[in-house]
Amino acid sequence: MADYVCPLCKRRIARDLVLFLKHTDQHIIDQIKISHPEWVETDGTCGPCAEYYRNQLTMGNGQLNIGPHERQKRVAFGVMALGAGVALTAFLFLTSAAPASRWVLALPFTGAALGFIQARKKTCAFLAIAGLQNMDKGQSAITEAEAVKALKGRGYLILVQAVATGVISAGLLTLLP
Ligand SMILES: [Zn+2]
Repeated sequence: MADYVCPLCKRRIARDLVLFLKHTDQHIIDQIKISHPEWVETDGTCGPCAEYYRNQLTMGNGQLNIGPHERQKRVAFGVMALGAGVALTAFLFLTSAAPASRWVLALPFTGAALGFIQARKKTCAFLAIAGLQNMDKGQSAITEAEAVKALKGRGYLILVQAVATGVISAGLLTLLP
């Protein structure tokens, strides 16, 4: 049997995986039609596309690229980096290391900020910059050009915020005696 080509992302999938949206999915259907006016629900879609548009609905303008499980991973990373930063701070103070050596703390604190900001914004900066998402089902490309653009900007903003948080934290600590 011939494969089915998803009219939205042009992915070729097995026919039995085609998804036809029910009337209860009207909001998803409307969402799809915003970016694909020529599409009608009887055309069907592949699973990832339906999932993608469902996600767009729940989070606004596609400004989100990680699922709950991926967010938890970012939080865990943030907690770990923060712990490392606090331990290293304690070590530097206890060993009376030169105040300038505290600049090294920018690293763990940037990592901590990165973890927490990404979790809060439901956006992985690195995936966003690469035009990818991971809604807990593995990485996949984001098909909407506008969402890719919005996420890219968001990704860079998160990186800048995280680095600024790390550098400022370390800088403040170097001012201490
Ligand atoms: Zn598709």
